[in-house]
Amino acid sequence: MSGTGGSSSLTQSFPCREPNCNREFNSKSSLADHSNKVHGGGSTGNRRPKKCTMCSSTFGTRSGLRQHEKNVHLLLTYDCLICGTPFTSLQDLTSHQDRMHKQ
Ligand SMILES: [Zn+2]
Ligand SMILES: [Zn+2]
Ligand SMILES: [Zn+2]
Repeated sequence: MSGTGGSSSLTQSFPCREPNCNREFNSKSSLADHSNKVHGGGSTGNRRPKKCTMCSSTFGTRSGLRQHEKNVHLLLTYDCLICGTPFTSLQDLTSHQDRMHKQ
């Protein structure tokens, strides 16, 4: 007896729609769970705004937040206590002090 060959194992898959993520899930709740844990923003289309931890400004994209942090918060300068020269990073200041003010 030959069967009709009709397989009823039609599985629906729910692919993650985040860029750089190719995962697929067999249920919507699994996808939502993954999205929450891995991407931290619930399902796509319901993205939480990115919030700056230093001034509480919110941004629609992570790169927007990064740009803001760079522009607003990374302009802090470190002044040399000995000669007053400002540096944008502690590393620069340290190497300056090592070179210029070595005893
Ligand atoms: Zn994903
Ligand atoms: Zn900020
Ligand atoms: Zn100095």
